[in-house]
Amino acid sequence: MSQIDSILGLSGLEILRVDPGSNQMQVWAKPKRRQACLYCHTGHVRINATHTRTLKHTRQGNRLLLVHLTVPKYHCQSCNRYFRHRFPGIRPRVRSTESYRLEVFEAHNGGVSQSQLSQTHQIGSATVERWYQHFIKRRVSEMSSRPCPSVLGIDEHFFSKKKGYATTLVDLKNHKVFDVVLGRSEPSLQAYLTRLKGKENVEYVVMDLSETYRSIVQKYFPNAKIIADRFHVIRLVNHHFLKLW
Ligand SMILES: [Zn+2]
Repeated sequence: MSQIDSILGLSGLEILRVDPGSNQMQVWAKPKRRQACLYCHTGHVRINATHTRTLKHTRQGNRLLLVHLTVPKYHCQSCNRYFRHRFPGIRPRVRSTESYRLEVFEAHNGGVSQSQLSQTHQIGSATVERWYQHFIKRRVSEMSSRPCPSVLGIDEHFFSKKKGYATTLVDLKNHKVFDVVLGRSEPSLQAYLTRLKGKENVEYVVMDLSETYRSIVQKYFPNAKIIADRFHVIRLVNHHFLKLW
């Protein structure tokens, strides 16, 4: 991999030209290979036309990296259909790569303001907000679609003066905090536990001897055996807590 390939981090591209300008670094690239037909998956395609897409990619120091991509439009000789080349990490019809959007999200999430980002990344502040919401939603749906751990640790800990206690769910098999939910009583955990997917896959629940948790486990985790052992849960939580927050 050449240096420019590793800067780009986009696979399957042949670099045609690089212009390392002072404000903007520009790279011209095209696909290394023709794509098999999207519809019939054969390789009998020919290039019917090409056009160029310009995408904002990452920032390199103080410079914005622009990629000019040659996009072939193919004609499939087997099924007679037309399609455009698809690039991994680039969605159709957008003017920036997924890594660029992620970069903006991470920066905004880390406290960089919308106006700051609209300057450094040359996008409107409404766009910053839109991308931010997009990734937040995706994170939430990734979190909620994770399967329940088969060995689940449950414990309470003090969260804050304002919000009181929280319940921590730990994946004891993989030594990871699975989730932290505010509250420690059944009414406060009810909505969360009802939504939680794959509860029937939980085989063991490791917890202390609190009666509340015991009845929660019996109600929401029908196939789980209860193991009373507070120590393991606490140790893991302390170990992983800083990472999570
Ligand atoms: Zn085809």
